[in-house]
Amino acid sequence: MTWTQFTQQPRASELLYHSLRNDRLAHAYLLTGPKGAGKKQMALHLAKSLFCPEREADACGACITCRRIEGGNHPDVMFITPDGASIKIDQIRALQKEMAMRAVESHHKVYIIEHVEKMTTQAANSLLKFLEEPPAGVLALLLTEHSHAILPTILSRCQIVQFSPLSAEAIAGELRRDGVLAGMAQVASHITTNVEEAKVLSQSESFAQLRNLVIQLIQECKQRNSSALFTIHDMLQKSDKIKEELPLFLDLLILWLRDILYVQVGRHAHLINSDQQDVLQGQALVWTKAELLHGIDLVMETKNRIERNANVQLALERLVLQIQEG
Ligand SMILES: [Zn+2]
Repeated sequence: MTWTQFTQQPRASELLYHSLRNDRLAHAYLLTGPKGAGKKQMALHLAKSLFCPEREADACGACITCRRIEGGNHPDVMFITPDGASIKIDQIRALQKEMAMRAVESHHKVYIIEHVEKMTTQAANSLLKFLEEPPAGVLALLLTEHSHAILPTILSRCQIVQFSPLSAEAIAGELRRDGVLAGMAQVASHITTNVEEAKVLSQSESFAQLRNLVIQLIQECKQRNSSALFTIHDMLQKSDKIKEELPLFLDLLILWLRDILYVQVGRHAHLINSDQQDVLQGQALVWTKAELLHGIDLVMETKNRIERNANVQLALERLVLQIQEG
């Protein structure tokens, strides 16, 4: 990894790289943005760039120094993560003590605090004092998904580096590089903006099973008999994780109906289930646009109903019957 490879967060990486190269790093940065946006990876890269002997203002990622930082074993780079539910004052005190000592291997010291919004009030006050009088050569990298939950006094001491959510395209690309089949990568990237979540999702067995179930159900909805209802009953009986999987199932259902619609209007390049073009093509012949739009509305309504704790079986049966009525 080099600075030029952070193509998904160009603003954040340019800001940090520019400051580093010009020797104008601030004392403290707050890296803020959604989960999975790459905040920790960039914080680590910045730390490596300060210490890596192989590259100027960048990091090779392969030398012993880079690997020690990556593994949390570098004497001048300290990590803090919540201890249980919160970051406690003892952790901040230990940090201050550590940072007050002279750097072992250069004149820099770096500390990275993850989920910095989880500091207790005492911890936050203690860190604030530390941020107000930073020791020379110490760089603070604070990471959060919830910058609104951080004390304004702390925010004002940090330079804010905003990370944006990854695009579906970027997530799908990452999944494909990880060996996920293109079709599955495409679908998973439209379910979540968190690349880690998308990875887990696309590699789980139930993901493929649930999509097959969606395809089957949509087919059966047009068969004017009870097979769609049987499929629902079967699904509820067979899976013990159905309660957790239901939101995903309904999301997949929406994406599928949307894709049939896209086939009808000829927007093949925008298909999400692009690996299932033949099946979509067949279904596009038997559904009307109005039915599809209505179907998407019904699925969203069902999602809301289930989120508000409606009976799952009744909600799904009602969904199927309403879709069949058209
Ligand atoms: Zn290196």
